[in-house]
Amino acid sequence: MIVTRFAPSPTGRLHVGNLRTALHNWLLARKGDEDGQGRFLLRIDDTDAERSREEYVDAIREDLAWLGLEPDAEYRQSERLDLYENAFAQLKDAGRVYPAYETAQELELKRKIALGRGLPPIYDRAALKLTDEERATRQAEGVSPHWRFKLDREQRIDWEDAVRGPQKFDPAQLSDPVIRRADGSWLYMLPSVVDDLDMGVTYVLRGEDHVSNTAVQVQMFSALHQAGVGPDHCDVVDSFPNLGHTALLVGKEGKLSKRLGSLSCEALREAGIEPAAILSLLARLGTSQPVEPIAERRVLIDGFDLATFGRAPAKFDEAELERLNAAIVHQLDFDEVKDRLPGGIDEAGWHAIRPNLSHVSEAAEWWRLVTGPIEQPEFSADDRAFLAEAADALEWSDNPWGTLTATLKERTGRKGKPLFLPLRQALTGMDHGPDMGELLPLIGEDEARARLASAASA
Ligand code: GLU
Repeated sequence: MIVTRFAPSPTGRLHVGNLRTALHNWLLARKGDEDGQGRFLLRIDDTDAERSREEYVDAIREDLAWLGLEPDAEYRQSERLDLYENAFAQLKDAGRVYPAYETAQELELKRKIALGRGLPPIYDRAALKLTDEERATRQAEGVSPHWRFKLDREQRIDWEDAVRGPQKFDPAQLSDPVIRRADGSWLYMLPSVVDDLDMGVTYVLRGEDHVSNTAVQVQMFSALHQAGVGPDHCDVVDSFPNLGHTALLVGKEGKLSKRLGSLSCEALREAGIEPAAILSLLARLGTSQPVEPIAERRVLIDGFDLATFGRAPAKFDEAELERLNAAIVHQLDFDEVKDRLPGGIDEAGWHAIRPNLSHVSEAAEWWRLVTGPIEQPEFSADDRAFLAEAADALEWSDNPWGTLTATLKERTGRKGKPLFLPLRQALTGMDHGPDMGELLPLIGEDEARARLASAASA
């Protein structure tokens, strides 16, 4: 059984980078449906009470729902503090967490000294060397400790990354991570591992900015496992889930980070980008599979394969998203858009104007060609005579455009552009636009005749 999770911190709106991670995890779980019921979990990482906002929790849910990536279950870390407390106590008993009393300034100074000596800024474990007495003095002075996880420097850290292949870290080159602040609040690191174990997560798939977190989390998984934390039913491989880190998204000109505001799910939605366009792009970006406008989720699910993911940064290009969007809009059925269309557009109307749209919101603009009023250009005397002929020749049938153009061709000898363009201009006021064969029946006989006549007499 495949269990994946998407674990955003509710400190801002989701952007394309987050959406991509959510999508990968959703696709992996839905693909897992083939071997039983895959599960895609939403975990709200809201242990940082100061920065977490309820409005962002709602926004995360809305964005996922809009994209059709609804989770099978939702959890909130703020409701699971007992579990973390318990895990912490077990790790403490096992000697794998220890209190430290340095201030931020002291730590910064140590860092600078190490760097100045050309050494890596690894925490020196000074707190481990404190005597009971020294600790008691700190406590008596009213200094509350923060807490570090004690890495086992003898235990190699390696894993077979589902995207990056074999990964190896030397624990002696890593600082013991701070897992809990002096005020008792949790940093992301330990609760995440506790949850992944408790929820039976089988795949942790996230961006490669997490690789170094993963290195220490790998030891946390096994420390918890050894301490007996985690449900008995948890049969994750050995002691930790499969781990995968996808190459980061970059913009065409480098880092995306500065533009993430304009690349929020909300901003894209407001810009008229369709969910299917976003999913089509994000599912395949950075893989060896071609990016194509794919409206069918099934196709994305079936094609999802971590083996196709590359290590090079994935280039996110808004122009590509726009192109995909237009192609997706051209495939949308009337039922999928009817609630978003201006009144009056029926299925035939949608089919007529759909090929001209890059965004569904442009439908109103094109629909005005049908409802009017339109603005006609000035015509030459020749064209006016031709249009007078057209008003006269107009005959209503199943195919009024076909009939009209055939009759006019015969009567006037015009063909090609001189035949079609003045008609289009007179009937729509434009040089280009929807297929006239589809549009003319929507304009209707009386209105069409009136437009032809007014163009002829102008
Ligand atoms: N809340 C973390 C983040 O948003 C979760 C990372 C993860 O474990 O997926 O970066």
